[in-house]
Amino acid sequence: MPEEHFETTTVCHVPCTACGCVCDDLAVSVRNNRVVALERACPIAEEWFATQSAIDRPVAQIEGQTVTLESAVAKAAQILSLADAPLVYGLSRSNTEGQRAAVLLAEMLGATIDTTASQCHGPSIMAIQEMGESTCSLGEIRNRADLVIYWGCHPAETHPRHAERYAVFPVGSRIKNGRSDRTVVLIGHAGLVEHWRLDRGGAMADLVVPIEPGSDFEVLTELLSLVRGWPTSDEPAPSCDHPNTAQRSRRAALESGVRSGTKDAAVEPRSAADSRELAKLARLMTTCQCGVVFFGLGLTGMVADRDPGNPMPGQHTVHLLLKLVAELNVHTRFFARRMRIYGDVTGADNVLCWHTGYPFSVNLARGYPRYNPGEFSADDLLARRDVDACLLVGSETYSLLSSESQSTLRQIPTIAIENPGTALPFEPTVRITTSPCGLSTGGTVYRMDGVPISLRAVVTSEYPEDAAVLKQIAAQVNG
Ligand code: SF4
Repeated sequence: MPEEHFETTTVCHVPCTACGCVCDDLAVSVRNNRVVALERACPIAEEWFATQSAIDRPVAQIEGQTVTLESAVAKAAQILSLADAPLVYGLSRSNTEGQRAAVLLAEMLGATIDTTASQCHGPSIMAIQEMGESTCSLGEIRNRADLVIYWGCHPAETHPRHAERYAVFPVGSRIKNGRSDRTVVLIGHAGLVEHWRLDRGGAMADLVVPIEPGSDFEVLTELLSLVRGWPTSDEPAPSCDHPNTAQRSRRAALESGVRSGTKDAAVEPRSAADSRELAKLARLMTTCQCGVVFFGLGLTGMVADRDPGNPMPGQHTVHLLLKLVAELNVHTRFFARRMRIYGDVTGADNVLCWHTGYPFSVNLARGYPRYNPGEFSADDLLARRDVDACLLVGSETYSLLSSESQSTLRQIPTIAIENPGTALPFEPTVRITTSPCGLSTGGTVYRMDGVPISLRAVVTSEYPEDAAVLKQIAAQVNG
């Protein structure tokens, strides 16, 4: 039948799972079981709905050959049952139901299970475990925050509607005039942050603070000094033969000084940012009614960029940020929130925590959970070739893995459970294409602030759901 003969229906309040904002106000028009129009979707969402709507891939493949779903499930179960050290990795593009099924399968296998958090906000999670987190919902930010700081993240690029819906432009119960009642600050590396914008319309921040790349820790130290009322100094760091040693010893001295609440002027760093801007920022922080720092991977550092002596770069930096925020609560109400990238990476952390007590990098080989990022992180295990079979539940962070890990994945039996819009750049042993959450699968996902959102399936799909496939594999492993 010609396309125009089908009726168009519009589904309102559809949540988008393309990024951690999970905006739940999209209007999706559907005709002949196809998405034909979107309202309030940002460019990332438009691309996501377009690519995820593809139906050209077979449901199941083994070594690139189309097979029945039953055959693919049987092959996957056989591979995982025979493996001595299986790895289950990904989970952030699934929903709670799929994540729960993946964790139960990992428990059954005695596998290591890791989420994509280990490739992005893992250092932040470890800092939060050490320091605690001054937390809030995005609704609280919308209603109360009159100072909004983005640190190490470019919201217009990664979360295009974050400012519009939650943090900068909306009118709130205590923010009657929306944008004009808020002060917005961007902090990032010099040469980059000057080009950052708050949304795709090019909205500018009120204050932009460029800092030397890699000096976030020093800037936080200086801010903490200002908030505590200590004088700051531009004295040079103590001399030392090796520049790395000098940097480490200065950092160690700073950390110990900060942790003990004492200050040694001799180890004060050179200012890594304009000291007048930092003084202004410290004043804004202590005098606002309610402030928040949204921080991203520019602050934590990409795990992929780490050096062997520092497996979780950014952990100490985030620790210091959380300490600063905790101390700001002496003056006012202040929060720190992570800008989570992948749609349901927050849910993946939550579900793994419910089952094992730990949010990522968990080994279940001994029949009880062991948590050790670095040892049990997917990238480390794969790079060391400590894995002999891998189940990828979503492969969107494959490109973030090290080249050694990517090479291992190409050599060991790999099972990829992928949505239509993603594909590994090589042919996995088993590929099962599943129905995308938020398009043709419902369920629950967690927004970046930990608020659960119920999804709507706006079209039907011939692809099975993640949870169903994982349960079928588990049934065969068990049998
Ligand atoms: S900001 Fe994120 S959740 Fe919101 S519409 Fe864009 S991609 Fe979707």
